[in-house]
Amino acid sequence: MTNAETKLKWEFGMNAEIISIGAELTSGQNVDTNSQWLSQRLAEIGIAVRFHATVGDDLKDIVAALRTAQARADLVIVTGGLGPTQDDLTREALAAAAGVELVLHEESLAAIRQMFAARKRPMPERNVAQAWLPHGAEAIPNHLGTAPGIWLESSSIPQAEEPNPRAVLLIALPGVPSEMHAMFREWVRPRLIERLGGAPFVIIERKLNCFGAGESMMEEKLLDLTKRGHEPQVGITVRDAIIALRIRARAASETEARRLIAPVEDTIRQRLGHYVFGVDREELHEVVARLLMEKKQTVAVAESLTGGLVTHLLTLVPGVSASLLGGIVAYANSAKENLLGVPRDLLESHGAVSAPVAEAMAVGVRQRFGADWAVSTTGIAGPTGATATKPVGLVYIGIAGRTGVRSYEVNWFGERHEIQTRSAWSALNALRLHIEGRPA
Ligand code: ATP
Repeated sequence: MTNAETKLKWEFGMNAEIISIGAELTSGQNVDTNSQWLSQRLAEIGIAVRFHATVGDDLKDIVAALRTAQARADLVIVTGGLGPTQDDLTREALAAAAGVELVLHEESLAAIRQMFAARKRPMPERNVAQAWLPHGAEAIPNHLGTAPGIWLESSSIPQAEEPNPRAVLLIALPGVPSEMHAMFREWVRPRLIERLGGAPFVIIERKLNCFGAGESMMEEKLLDLTKRGHEPQVGITVRDAIIALRIRARAASETEARRLIAPVEDTIRQRLGHYVFGVDREELHEVVARLLMEKKQTVAVAESLTGGLVTHLLTLVPGVSASLLGGIVAYANSAKENLLGVPRDLLESHGAVSAPVAEAMAVGVRQRFGADWAVSTTGIAGPTGATATKPVGLVYIGIAGRTGVRSYEVNWFGERHEIQTRSAWSALNALRLHIEGRPA
């Protein structure tokens, strides 16, 4: 295959795989941050990473991982295992996977000797091993360490079970993050861009943050967009009941990628309406604080099961003191009665975890602080405290405003802290919808 053909293939959907090598990674002792870093850097130039693999220091295993990668990827970047010791096997494995011999690379040997000379240290014989590279490989200079990296075009992989008909580019970089980063930035990245035809693609991601419905319900409304092969890609992830819809576009420029994303974002917003609360890194408490500050309105908080979390989240936002008047954590019935004015008969007849008590807490705290808005939380965080009619995870949120008071029942699954966190989000979300004038 000629270079021009390879280039064409690369322009139209190239796949990358990253292989991290080291027993300290497979044992769980160290975390593989190299793959994360490389995936982000590759995305910046439009290269999508489809696989991450982690392998211990075993020649057979590394060769097997390389062959698997060669069969399914156009670009394979390996990190780690380029040191001088016996368990550094990347060079040997690369040569085996590409079906070539290791040969001594004089220039690299001179660079390693120079590295030791500059530090006025004798060079151990073992370090010579670092200058043996697979036949046909180019050495990637390493100015921060002794191990040169490897750039190896492997067009024929005789041993592969399912040979990839395309040429595969194999790159090996040291495991030490600082060395790897510098070599990638200075040497590898420009060459990859050249390989991509000079004008790199970019992958841009726009995240729409949603709250208030389950993942499956959201996806049902977006099935045509989330299906495989849709461009731009739309993916769904969930964290603490907050659903993120990621719209990912690949294009020749950021402007072009954003132009592709815009209509998809519009469609999602039309279909999901008030469930979308923010974009990218925006969080619910930030949105609520911003709305309050923009409208010059104030809020007070009364919390039972969230123990101050709603108030705390609001205090994370700089400048919120103009809008957040304060919060009361009223955990015991007596506190709800004495500090918030919840009538005792209400607590006795409905129980502390009930809609009327949530409403009375909100009304009480709003009055006491003289706020425009009030939000309250009461519920059963578990694992104990459930009754026949009130299960763990049952939560009531109260919202009081100038025109009256409303309450909402929510039911969460999860551990105690998860129920607390999700309830805090529920409270903030209910408040957001009221401030926006579209209560759920
Ligand atoms: P050198 O020859 O420069 O020592 P190397 O290629 O031999 O590099 P390793 O010996 O595999 O690298 O790893 C050196 C150190 O780099 C590890 O102890 C670890 O701290 C770090 N490292 C290795 N791989 C990773 C990884 N995937 N993510 C984060 N750190 C890593």
